[in-house]
Amino acid sequence: MAASADEHFVATTVDDNEPTCWGCGLHLILPSYTPTFKCGWCGAITNQNIWKRESKYSYWRRLRDCFFVCVLLIFMLFVICGGVWAVYPVVFSISYFYGIFHLTITTILSISTLSTFSLAAFSCAGTPPSIMWGTYPLVGKGDLENYTFCHYCSKPKCPRSHHCQICGICVLDLDHHCPFIGNCVGAANHRHFITFLILTVVSTIYVAIMSINAGLQIWPPVSLRSRIHLHGLSTDTALAIMKEIILALLNSAEHLSTRGLLLVYLFVASISVNVGLSVLLWQQLRFIYKGETYLSHLASQGSEQDGVKDCQNLFHFFGCPYSVSRYLPIMRSSPKTHKK
Ligand SMILES: [Zn+2]
Ligand SMILES: [Zn+2]
Ligand SMILES: [Zn+2]
Repeated sequence: MAASADEHFVATTVDDNEPTCWGCGLHLILPSYTPTFKCGWCGAITNQNIWKRESKYSYWRRLRDCFFVCVLLIFMLFVICGGVWAVYPVVFSISYFYGIFHLTITTILSISTLSTFSLAAFSCAGTPPSIMWGTYPLVGKGDLENYTFCHYCSKPKCPRSHHCQICGICVLDLDHHCPFIGNCVGAANHRHFITFLILTVVSTIYVAIMSINAGLQIWPPVSLRSRIHLHGLSTDTALAIMKEIILALLNSAEHLSTRGLLLVYLFVASISVNVGLSVLLWQQLRFIYKGETYLSHLASQGSEQDGVKDCQNLFHFFGCPYSVSRYLPIMRSSPKTHKK
């Protein structure tokens, strides 16, 4: 229910029983009691029924996020260090230049994955613009169009921002709160998050290939590799290899070395992580393609409204340096906040 017409707006300072617009501080005369109304002057939406509530779970959720971030960091360091320990002696035994080549790829992938993870996890997800509010002459007509008031942050909330209960802040273009980075994904770190997902998907494919490669060098026996060279990789040879690998796993303690087990673990873990993150990445890219965030997608579900599907959305997302200010309805040159 919203009373937004200009005739509902009358500037008065005498009757304190009339509802007050939080945006410009003016008293409004409404035909009847309306819990939610829009100011005809500044455009701010006041909801008289919302009261500040503290989330009792936010402490535990933050603790859970810290735990997930630590587990993820340890897992990434384990895959990098364990992979180098298990794969590189084998790779360097083939050829020195082959080893240097793969060492360079590993270094680039590790540094870029860890740095994008850190940027997504530890940078601010996106701060809504500061804007003048609360004082009638300073708040101009339509300055707070469709702004609401965040009772948690006690400040204006622009139409494109949402409050995250776990982080305890309003985030511009909030996509979702990700427990694995312990942070919201919003306007300022969405690109870091997507880049992290892409790099992790590429890295896990690389780890899986290198694990197989190193595994084939040390195990199964050399006779199999020479058989592949002789007959090519036919279905029969592949089946024979599978059979010998399973037999080697079951029978030979020699083949169950720490390096062999670690290679099997790295392969299984990287494929599992790859499948999970590929699904997430695909979903995220689809939202960007449609010009939506996960939250706006949820909000538009059930309604006929749908984002404009365009590849330009993807180019725009990854293209020019991201400038939040260009997309904001109102940006003040002097972001000074005035409370009533
Ligand atoms: Zn107002
Ligand atoms: Zn807030
Ligand atoms: Zn959050």
